[in-house]
Parts: sequence; C-alpha cells; structure tokens
Amino acid sequence: MRKLAAGNWKMNGLGDGLGEITALAAAFPSPNCDVLICPPATLLSRMSDAAGSAIATGAQDCHAKTSGAHTGDISAQMVRDAGGAYVIVGHSERRTDHDETDAIVRAKAEAALSTDLIAVVCVGETLTDREAGQTLDVVGTQVAGSVPDGATAANTVVAYEPVWAIGTGKVPTLEEIGEVHDDIRARLVARFGDDAKNIRLLYGGSVKASNANEIFAVSNVDGALVGGASLKASDFGGIITALEAS
Ligand code: PEP
Repeated sequence: MRKLAAGNWKMNGLGDGLGEITALAAAFPSPNCDVLICPPATLLSRMSDAAGSAIATGAQDCHAKTSGAHTGDISAQMVRDAGGAYVIVGHSERRTDHDETDAIVRAKAEAALSTDLIAVVCVGETLTDREAGQTLDVVGTQVAGSVPDGATAANTVVAYEPVWAIGTGKVPTLEEIGEVHDDIRARLVARFGDDAKNIRLLYGGSVKASNANEIFAVSNVDGALVGGASLKASDFGGIITALEAS
C-alpha cells in the first residue's frame, strides 16, 4: 500500500502561507508516499492550484448533505469542486466543539464516499478513557459507528488520534500505539474482509520529524495525521522523509 503523510492546518493559514505548499511541492516532486494537506476551507482552492499533482489537498470537514440551508457549512461536492481529493471527518476537535457523534461522522464519511472523496475518519480516546482501561472499547465503538459500510482501502483512511496527545507534545508509547492499530486492523478485517488489510491507518498526536521514524516502525502504522508540524514545509518535510524511508 502507499503510505500517507497528511497535514491538518486546522484554523491556521492565510494567503501568504501558500508559500509553504509551493516549497513542499518543490522539495517532493515525486514522493514515494502520498502527501496530503488539509488547509482551512478558505485556502482550499488556491492551495489545490499551488500544490501541483504530487501533493493532494483536502478539507477538514464536510456536511452530510449535498446543498441547502446550512449556513457556514461546506458539502463534499464543494470540497471536490475546490480541488480537494480528501476530507477529514470526526476530528476530535469537531467531535468536542460541535458535538459530532459517530452517526454524524458516519453520515459525513458517506457523503465523502459518494462524492469520490477519500474520507479520513478520526477516532481516539480521552485521557479518562485510557486511565479507565477503556481505550480499545472506546476506539472500537468509534470505528464501528463512524466508518461507513461502503468503506474500502481506496476510499477510506482511519486516523487514530488519542485526544490527550493532540497538540500536547505527549505521545503514547510505541506499544500503546501498536496495540490500538492492531486492534483497529482486526476490527476492520472482521467487518470488511481482506481489502481492509490495505485500509491505511494513520497515527496522529504530536508527531514531529524527531519521533516520526520510531512511530512509522510500529505495526499497522501506515502514515500520520499531523497538526502543528504540518504548517511549515521544513517540519512536514522531515516527517515525509521519515515515511518515505519506513
Ligand atoms: C491533529 O490536528 O490531528 C493533530 C494530530 O495535531 P498535532 O500534530 O498538533 O498534535
């Protein structure tokens, strides 16, 4: 499978930040892994133009419906129209800030799939869940509830992002990451069959160039979803290089 280095710019980036994507495209004219940046929606069209063909772009969210009276939302069709190929759904910040349930996340992922976008479905436990020994149950329930029935290796990516590791500088041990990724893989294969062996499983949560090598060596880690360290081409480039070498 082709591994995936995905960047989530969150609510960061103005037009002058497009130089970062130009620099990234110049540094990686033909990477041996897939590279994705998900900028804020305001930049998606311009970034898609600037990224060229070697780097994909995507949105950080989409509405489940195609169009209508949903002020402030964007549809999967709009993401595609702006040049995006992927959409992140169910990021923990959306689950928390916008009360997104697994059913909502699943509906958004279904909208993505029916629009020929690749859905990056995010799951992850809170620190309370982990300390209560509930990690595999919580993540397993999220995977079951958020990943749509039409998921395939071609149209779906699952990102395991422990909530307590996002933007905190804290990272689970490699054993903890491997335990969750192995469990997600087993659940997906049990539900979807052999094709799910190739659904890409990303780790996300304080990934940096300095810890990427060891994380990418963990079983069933097929790439990363990166927040803070995706904003600068030089930082994200180090992660891409580590993924290419893994
Ligand atoms: C994220 O935004 O999905 C993320 C993992 O953020 P960070 O890399 O900054 O922890």
